[in-house]
Amino acid sequence: MTSKLKAKEWYLKNHERILEKSKEHYRKNRLAILEIRKKYYQKNREKQRDRTRRWREKNREKDRKSAREWGKKHPEQRKETSKRWREKNREKYNVFQRNNYAKRKKVEGSFTIEEWEQKKKKFNYKCAICKISEEELLNKTGIGLTIDHIIPITKKGTNYISNIQPLCFKCNRKKSNKLL
Ligand SMILES: [Zn+2]
Repeated sequence: MTSKLKAKEWYLKNHERILEKSKEHYRKNRLAILEIRKKYYQKNREKQRDRTRRWREKNREKDRKSAREWGKKHPEQRKETSKRWREKNREKYNVFQRNNYAKRKKVEGSFTIEEWEQKKKKFNYKCAICKISEEELLNKTGIGLTIDHIIPITKKGTNYISNIQPLCFKCNRKKSNKLL
């Protein structure tokens, strides 16, 4: 019998036993093996996370620096940009707040900031009641057009964009007083 055949024979005879042994080894040491694997993954994940964080910080600093330099060179545009940014984010916040409130009150419907922008455009950026323009409002009070539910939520109105109109702060308050 050649050694190759012998080896094969030995393997055939013993492989069940070997398999059983390695299974048993795994069973006995399962927790330890899992622990080792977990530690390995954690270590690598932390390393990867550190690397990503460092890269992000480095680039954020770079972005900030170039934005600052651009701002120094263009003070008027910078003012305009930051005003627009504030406006846009204030609107985002207002829309978010309205949707959140409606959800809490279990009122049907929601709308997006784009829908709200379209709605204001449809009203030529003017209060639906007194027709004051948003530009004038912003110049006078710093507060733009507000989101008004035509049929109030408390009177079974929905929170869909079809039930929403732009009102100035004053008209919104007057209307609320009347209808609530
Ligand atoms: Zn008004």
